[in-house]
Amino acid sequence: MQSYRMLIAGEWVEAASGAVFETENPFTGKPWALIPRAGVADVDKAVAAAQAAFRAPSWRGLSASARGALLRKFADLLAEDAERLARIETQDNGKLIAEMRGQLRYMPQWYHYFAGLADKIEGRVIPIDKPGVFNFTREEPLGVVTAITPWNSPLMLATWKLAPALAAGNTVVWKPSEYSSASALEFGKLFEKAGFPPGVVNIITGFGNEIGERLVSHPDVAKVAFTGGDRTGQGVYELAARSIKPVTLELGGKSANIVFDDADLDDAVKGVVSGIFAASGQTCIAGSRALVHRAIHDAFVEKLLAFARTARIGDPAQDDTQVGPITTKPQLAKVLDYIEIAKAEGAELALGGKRAVAAQCGEGWFVEPTIFTGVRPGMRIAQEEVFGPVLSIIPFEDDEEAIAIANGTIYGLAAGVWTKSINRALTMSQRLEAGTVWINTYRATSYMSPFGGYKRSGIGRESGLTAIREYLQEKSVWIDISGQVPNPFVQR
Ligand code: NAD
Repeated sequence: MQSYRMLIAGEWVEAASGAVFETENPFTGKPWALIPRAGVADVDKAVAAAQAAFRAPSWRGLSASARGALLRKFADLLAEDAERLARIETQDNGKLIAEMRGQLRYMPQWYHYFAGLADKIEGRVIPIDKPGVFNFTREEPLGVVTAITPWNSPLMLATWKLAPALAAGNTVVWKPSEYSSASALEFGKLFEKAGFPPGVVNIITGFGNEIGERLVSHPDVAKVAFTGGDRTGQGVYELAARSIKPVTLELGGKSANIVFDDADLDDAVKGVVSGIFAASGQTCIAGSRALVHRAIHDAFVEKLLAFARTARIGDPAQDDTQVGPITTKPQLAKVLDYIEIAKAEGAELALGGKRAVAAQCGEGWFVEPTIFTGVRPGMRIAQEEVFGPVLSIIPFEDDEEAIAIANGTIYGLAAGVWTKSINRALTMSQRLEAGTVWINTYRATSYMSPFGGYKRSGIGRESGLTAIREYLQEKSVWIDISGQVPNPFVQR
């Protein structure tokens, strides 16, 4: 079994306690690597390293252009190493190799984009209302940022945090999910190779319930950038509030993919399938509710079932596999539980509904692509995030009802709209309570476009121009140019 070490202060180290844990391959169901199990002492060491690096001239003294150059170098190394990293991530979390290749090919763009922004972070001169005074602002980094990420797209979701945080001049302590630490540790080697000073990027591995609290509440951590479940996010937010730390929270979703009666049904079928069966539904933006207009409901469901049945399930490392395993064993149990809950609530099972045990699934943690029809908006299966390949089809009568159902959950991450009417498309883009609305497409994201949640799906935005502001603070500087410091005992 392979043994990994963590990255603290530029050194590859074991946990102070020497403890390790096994990481499993979801396709074989077997452990394949040992990962250091960090404790509170390791958190303190990593934060101290990041704090020292933040203050050191080797980082603080770098020009913004030089910071950008480091990020560009990192992007190039990432592109060179893409295939290897893709394979490790597939082995560790079961994502399809085809999807991982696509992600890794695209990922360097985040570093190039934020490298380009690094030396365009500018303050302002304020035409202040007081005579004899010059006032300007400086945009400054926050300090040590902790990035806490989930297992479903480990490197991509970390990239959304690391690229802007570093471009803005912060240092980072990154804790990947305990279910997907291996690719993070491999990724860490590239920061070293690119020439980032020691301590600028630290990676500690371990369990959220053991080290998460210390990471979030550490007095020298200036900001928490978290992606994960909304309950964990709530806890992180409450803890961060006690020490008045800014947070970005990218949380869960129950996104609606709305198919109107004027949609191109073949396109809509593709969009709905990609929304829920890509990554086996283990994406925050999963379109886990298909809202379908009654007039086309039966025709749409027929086409959808026919297409969904063609999905090739199996080994995620094979180029032509289309549906891979569930990443973790507890998640497998959770998805199967939700299928039982949906049945008990009276939803009609139209496809799948079981653990997949076909020969090509081996010992892996697979769930059959599952579709329920006749789902009512109030059912738990229509309200709660499953995070698996389980689609709920909910019929609607008119646009108002579609909007009410789509907006009728605690979440607001994304929504899809399938229509040929420009009026309807624009109205929906305005009235849907979601951070992202896709019209006649689904799942598109870019380094250029802001991503984040409305309502309980989160706080703050990642990617795009606005993201770098999440990692900066504004300072106002006042300079007296009158040369006359007034007598403080005389009111002006
Ligand atoms: P999770 O909340 O269980 O864990 C996320 C991370 O938080 C892990 O690194 C975990 O170790 C850590 N953690 C756990 N307890 C902690 C604590 N008390 N303090 C600090 N950190 C702690 O989520 P998960 O199961 O890994 O990921 C799935 C969830 O992530 C889903 O709800 C999904 O919707 C969400 N997600 C959101 C986005 C988005 O951008 N909005 C993207 C991907 C995933």
